[in-house]
Amino acid sequence: MKAIRRLHVRTVLPQTLAPLHDLALNLRWSWHPPTRDIFASIDPELWQASGHDPVAVLSSLRTADMDRLAADESFVTRVHEAAADLERYLTKPRWYQQEGAGRTAEHGDRELRSIAYFSPEFGITSVLPQYSGGLGILAGDHLKAASDQGIPIVGVGLFYTSGYFAQRFNAEGWQQESYPVLDPDDLPLSLLREEDGTPVVVRLAMPQGGHLDARVWRAQVGRVPLLLLDSDVETNDAARREVTNRLYGGGGDQRLEQEMLLGIGGVRALRAYSRITGAPEPTVYHTNEGHAGFQGVERISELVSRAGLTFDEALRAVRAGTVFTTHTPVPAGIDRFDVDAIRAHFAEDGCQLDGVPLDRLLALGAEDYEGGDRSRFNMAVMGMRLGQRVNGVSRLHGAVSREMFSGLWPGFDLDEVPIGSVTNGVHAGTWVDRKLYDLAKAHLGPETAARSVFTRIHEVPIDAFWRTKRELRAQLIDDARARLKTSLRDRGVTEAELGWTEDVLDPDALTIGFARRGATYKRLTLMLRDPERLKKLLNDPERPVQLLIAGKSHPADDTGKALIQQMVRFTDDPEVRGKILYLPNYDIAMAQQLYPGCDVWLNNPLRPFEACGTSGMKAALNGALNLSILDGWWDEWYDGQNGWAIPTADGVEDPDRRDDLESAALYELLERTVVPTFYDRDEDGLPQRWLEMVSHTLSTLGPKVLADRMVRDYTEQYYWPAAHAAWSAAADDFAGARDLAAYVEQVHASWPQVRIDHVDADGLSDAPQIGDEISVHAFVGLGDLDPHQVRVQMAYGRANAEDTLTDLEYVDLEPTQSYEEGRHRFDGRMRLARTGALGWTVRVLPRHGQLAGAAELGLVTLP
Ligand SMILES: *Cc1c(COP(=O)(O)O)cnc(C)c1O
Repeated sequence: MKAIRRLHVRTVLPQTLAPLHDLALNLRWSWHPPTRDIFASIDPELWQASGHDPVAVLSSLRTADMDRLAADESFVTRVHEAAADLERYLTKPRWYQQEGAGRTAEHGDRELRSIAYFSPEFGITSVLPQYSGGLGILAGDHLKAASDQGIPIVGVGLFYTSGYFAQRFNAEGWQQESYPVLDPDDLPLSLLREEDGTPVVVRLAMPQGGHLDARVWRAQVGRVPLLLLDSDVETNDAARREVTNRLYGGGGDQRLEQEMLLGIGGVRALRAYSRITGAPEPTVYHTNEGHAGFQGVERISELVSRAGLTFDEALRAVRAGTVFTTHTPVPAGIDRFDVDAIRAHFAEDGCQLDGVPLDRLLALGAEDYEGGDRSRFNMAVMGMRLGQRVNGVSRLHGAVSREMFSGLWPGFDLDEVPIGSVTNGVHAGTWVDRKLYDLAKAHLGPETAARSVFTRIHEVPIDAFWRTKRELRAQLIDDARARLKTSLRDRGVTEAELGWTEDVLDPDALTIGFARRGATYKRLTLMLRDPERLKKLLNDPERPVQLLIAGKSHPADDTGKALIQQMVRFTDDPEVRGKILYLPNYDIAMAQQLYPGCDVWLNNPLRPFEACGTSGMKAALNGALNLSILDGWWDEWYDGQNGWAIPTADGVEDPDRRDDLESAALYELLERTVVPTFYDRDEDGLPQRWLEMVSHTLSTLGPKVLADRMVRDYTEQYYWPAAHAAWSAAADDFAGARDLAAYVEQVHASWPQVRIDHVDADGLSDAPQIGDEISVHAFVGLGDLDPHQVRVQMAYGRANAEDTLTDLEYVDLEPTQSYEEGRHRFDGRMRLARTGALGWTVRVLPRHGQLAGAAELGLVTLP
C-alpha cells in the first residue's frame, strides 16, 4: 500500500530525557564521541543500521522504551552530563574571545560579531548528505573549527532534497546514480519560523512575473548556525519546487536559479534570521567559491534602496566587507552562465534588483579582458569584482590563481595580482579516529588539547601505536568486506558466489588508499599504466600491498565514469581480486574508516590542478604517510621525511608521455622505497624507520593541517581586515564609500592623461657599490589629478638579460614641485642594498586610503 499523505509525528520525550532532543539537534555530536555513545546505547542495532543517526534513534522510540530509559538512573545521569557539557561548549570563552585573537590596535575596540559564510555545499556528517566532495567537506570543517574557536560565523547554503547522489555499479562496472529523497523532518534540522510560528519564506522574482520561494532550514553546528534554503514549498510551481532537488544537478536555468537562491535568497534569509533571533547582522561576507556571488549584488541593492547610495558607492561598501575564496585552478572548472540567461533572469519582469541596472550587473561577470568570452557571465570574475579580498587555498594555488586571473589586472607583475592564499585544513575532531585519540589521551592525560596530541606524540610508546594501527586496519577491513559484498550483490553476483569476500584483505599488509572525486585531472587510472607491474606489487607473497579505492564521478561526466569503470573492471580480474577493491559510494562515513586504516595515502593529480586537496591531511592525522605528486598542500609541506613526492614531468607536453613518466616514477617509489621500508622489521616486528616517519609526520605536519589553524588564518588575515574596511566604508553615513566611489570615478576618467615624462637620478657613479644612495626625480603629467591622489614609486630589483625586473622593492617618491598643465615633480632616495645586476624604473598608481593594495583598481602607468 502507498500512503496518500505523509505526516510527521514528533517524539515527545519525558521531562528527564528532554535534553536528548537538543543533543540530537546540535551537530556537535558528529565530533563528540561521548554524545554519540549515548545514542548508540539506546539501541545499538538501530544505531548501526541508521548509519549512526541520533535523530533516527530518537524517532524510533516507543513509549515503553522511553519509560525504560527514564527509569535508568545511570542513563539519565549521562544524558544530563552530556547536556551540561554541551552547554559549557556553547558558552565558554574560546580562542576568539581572548585578548588579541586576530585583532590589532588599528581595529580599536569594535567587536566583529558576525561573519557570514556562503557555500553551495556543506559536508558535516554523512547523515546530512549535502556535499559532493572536497569543497563541501572543507566548508563543514570550516564551520566546526570556527565553532571550536569561538569565531562568530553563520553558514548559508541550500538544502538539496536528494543531496548529491548515491553511487552503485552495474555488472559492467558502470556507475549507477540514484537519488533517494530526504525528508527534512528526519534530519537534524529545524524550520526557521517567525515569532508567530509561521515558517519564514524567502521570495525571489523570476522571469515573466514568476517567483521562486524557499523555506529556511536551520542546522546547528556547535556554536555555528547554518541556514539552508529549500525550494520544495507549495507556493512554487512544480518546476521551481525542484530547483534545489539536487546538488550540481540539472543544467542552465536550474543551476542559475540555485545560485540566485543561494546568493540573493541567502542574504534575505540572513536578514530574517537576525530579525527573528536578534543575532547581529554580519559585517563580513565570505563566499566559498563563486556560486554564491549574487550575495554581493543583493547587498548592493539593499544599500541603494535603504541607505540612498549610488550603485558605485554601494559597490565600494560591499566590496570592503567581502572575502572571496577561489577553489579551482582548472579554467573548465569555473562556473559560467550564458549572458542571455542572466539577462532573462534579471530582466524587469524577473529578478531585477532595485538600484542594480542590468548593464552594471552584466559588467560584474563580464569576461571583457584578453582571451575572455563575451557571451559568458563568469561567477569567479564576479567574485573578484565584488570582493576586496581574494584568496586561493594553498600557496601553489595562490600562485596559479594569480596567473590564471592576471588578465583582470593588466600591467601588474604576477606577484602583485591581489590574490593571496590560506592553505586548507581539516577538523581533527571529525577526522582523527577515536582509537588514536584514546591511545594518545591514555598516555598524555585526558585533558590534552588536540594540538598537543600531535606535538607530544613522541610520548606515546611506538609499539602501542603500531598495535592500534593494526586495529584500525582490521576495522577498515571489516567495513570494506561489508561494502564489497553489498556492491557485488548490486552487480548481480549471487550469494553462492560471495564466499570469497569473507577473508579478503589482510590486517598486516601494507594498505594504500586512493579516494576522491572522479575528475579527470585526478588520474584515477595512472596506477594502471603498467598493469603487470601493479599486479606484481599486489601479489608479492612476502611483502603484499593492498589497495582500496573509492570515488564518485559527476553524473554528466562520462569520461570520469569510463575511468572508474576501467578501475572497477581491473578489480574484477581473478589475478588481483580481493587485493584491490573499488568501494562504492564514497562519503564521510566511509572516509572516516578509510583514512585511519591506511598506511599510505596516494594522490597523483596532474600538477598544478589540485587546488589544495585535503584527504591526504586527514590520512596524515591518522598516522598514514602521503605518497603524492607535489601539488596543492603537499607542494608546500612535503619535507623529505613525512612521506614521498612522486616526481612530476611538468614540462612534458604530450599527456601520454607525461603519464608514462609519472606512473613509472610511482611504481619505482613503491617498489624500491615504500614497500621495503614498511616491511623492514626489527626483532620486535616493528618497522622502525616507518614509525619514525609517521611520528615525525604527526608532530610536525599535524599542527599545520588543522582547520583550527586555517580559521585563525582567515580571522587574522581576512576577516578582521575586511571588517575594518567595511566599518571605514560605512562610517558617517557611508562617507568612506562615497569618497572612494568618487575617487574611483575620477581616477578612471583621468587615467588616460597620466604619463611619465622624464626620469633622472643623481648620485649614480660609474661603478656603484653597495650602500651608495641614489636620488631619483620623476616628472609626471597627472591631468586633473592632484599629486596626492597618486602614488609615484621607484621599483628596483634584479634585471635579467631582457631587462625584466624580478624580486622587486618599491620606494615611494614624494611630490616636490608642480608646474603648469598638470605636470609635477616627485623625488625620493634609495640606498643600494643588493649586489649584482640590478635595474629600476618608476611607475604611477592610484592612491586612496581605502584601497587594499597597489593593484586593486588595475591601473598603472609605466614610462
Ligand atoms: C576529504 C574528502 C574529500 C576531498 O578529498 P580531496 O583529497 O580534496 O580530493 C572528498 N570526499 C570526502 C568524503 C572526503 O572526506
